Amino acid sequence: MAETSRLVCLGIESTADNLGVGIVTSDGAILANEISTHVPMEGGIHPREAARHHANQMGNVISKALQKAEMKAGDINFIAFSQGPGLGPSLRTGATASRALAAYLGIPLVGVNHCVAHIEIGRLATGAEDPLTLYVSGGNTIVTGFEAGRYRIFGETLDIAIGNCLDTFAREAGLEYPGGPAVEKLALEGERLIPLPYVVKGMDLSFSGLLTAAVQELKAGHNRVEDVCYSLQEVAYGMLGEVTERALAHTKKEEILLTGGVGANERLRSAIGCIAEEHGASAKFVPIGYATDNGAMIAWTGVIAYRSGVRTPIETSYIDSRWRLDTVEVPWRT
Ligand code: AMP
Ligand code: MG
Repeated sequence: MAETSRLVCLGIESTADNLGVGIVTSDGAILANEISTHVPMEGGIHPREAARHHANQMGNVISKALQKAEMKAGDINFIAFSQGPGLGPSLRTGATASRALAAYLGIPLVGVNHCVAHIEIGRLATGAEDPLTLYVSGGNTIVTGFEAGRYRIFGETLDIAIGNCLDTFAREAGLEYPGGPAVEKLALEGERLIPLPYVVKGMDLSFSGLLTAAVQELKAGHNRVEDVCYSLQEVAYGMLGEVTERALAHTKKEEILLTGGVGANERLRSAIGCIAEEHGASAKFVPIGYATDNGAMIAWTGVIAYRSGVRTPIETSYIDSRWRLDTVEVPWRT
């Protein structure tokens, strides 16, 4: 479809604890990427509390994004929103706001798969063309690559996500939230590798046994917390590296894209860097502002989907909290 003018998309991300609003143009310029994060008073994310935060902040974050982009609501050509996967109450809040905005402005709506959006913003931000992607975050752990019209899942977690594992461990250890950076910092002082369960089943991973064992080693009292953090990282990132490397060897892709909040970790980055080098591939790290959940990734994926004709009528705009990455058609790449 030939494009006659520059289109502007406003994207709303609300799958978990982040409410993000991004404004992106059809030529890939990111004009705004505003975020408000719900920080729980205690424990992990409470879905209803997160949704309440998003509802309270929605108007504010949208206004900030419009201001940043120096635009009025009337300048927006269509709305994109994350339709899944994620926490139901959070997703519904974003979807409701998106429907209301699209109906009020009389513009189209585009439902976006959150995992696809992580890959697409990664490609935009790093220039990767056809990467094998390792997407590691608070809620997801997926090794994926594009094959025959879709992003195929080569490996994924069978239980909790790696970020969830790190955050829960950190909470048990009395470390600050979020856990990933706290564990990373202490791990630098670790020197003894404590045996912990390394669980790779075929191409899939399991982190719940590793979490339980790491907490037990800590509570047993005869290990330094630095050594437990070090061991937890070595085992978890070793598992991720193994699956990623096997997928790379199988697909023969020339790039590895590391994305999601856990992708900020230097130990994981260096492991991925080594794997890429050994296979003659290049490692691409998504800048942190676009690697964690954000509105720009939804807006950009909205743009490329819209350009290939994707529209989401209000009647079918219900959220799908379990929407799998490998069920999404990706017409813009075929
Ligand atoms: P996301 O779900 O993509 O918003 O990312 C949040 C997750 O990234 C949380 O589980 C954090 O603990 C994790 N995270 C952030 N920074 C780091 C880091 N340096 N090392 C490991 N995990 C991290
Ligand atoms: Mg998140």
